[in-house]
Amino acid sequence: MDETIKLHDRQFKVLIPAARIDEAVTDVARRINSDYAARETPLFLGVLNGSFMFLSDLMKKIEFNCELSFVKLASYEGTGSTGEVKNLIGLNNDLAGRHVVIVEDIVDTGGSIEHMVRELERHRPASIEICTLFFKPASYARTIPVRYRALEIGNEFIVGYGLDYNQLGRNLKDVYVVTE
Ligand code: 5GP
Ligand code: MG
Repeated sequence: MDETIKLHDRQFKVLIPAARIDEAVTDVARRINSDYAARETPLFLGVLNGSFMFLSDLMKKIEFNCELSFVKLASYEGTGSTGEVKNLIGLNNDLAGRHVVIVEDIVDTGGSIEHMVRELERHRPASIEICTLFFKPASYARTIPVRYRALEIGNEFIVGYGLDYNQLGRNLKDVYVVTE
């Protein structure tokens, strides 16, 4: 567990082991199960690519009837958030009157998620909540509430469990942090 791995030009070491991630996913699933049990067929909307592993593990712990779909919102390159926000693509569900849970890998400054919520609100859903695996409280600079945060971390750059460094590292079962 102490060894480092190399992705492109950088070294990474384990920050959060798989077992800790699993506990956090279980906790957040328990909260969602209790909050949504009485609501009409909630829709989980996974934000590709980073959320695929989280969403897969989360869904196995959801105990009510629900639907699942994916969207994409590409805004990120390298190890720093660019601030540039691109379009929401791949949405082909009728969201009117639906209870929507956006599932994200990580909320950093909040720019991406705010843009996405604004876009989705135009479709008149009954409710929208955000569920993110990782949340960076010191970096978050928006006002929209992020209701479900599985794990809070500092401002370090992480990879693994779906998150990438220039497309590498998504397959790792633990979460790694860049060294130096
Ligand atoms: P925000 O718009 O909240 O600043 O940035 C959100 C996006 O930036 C995330 O969806 C993710 O793609 C990327 N991002 C932010 N922090 C990290 C990080 O520590 N590691 C990785 N791999 N991506 C990150
Ligand atoms: Mg993302």
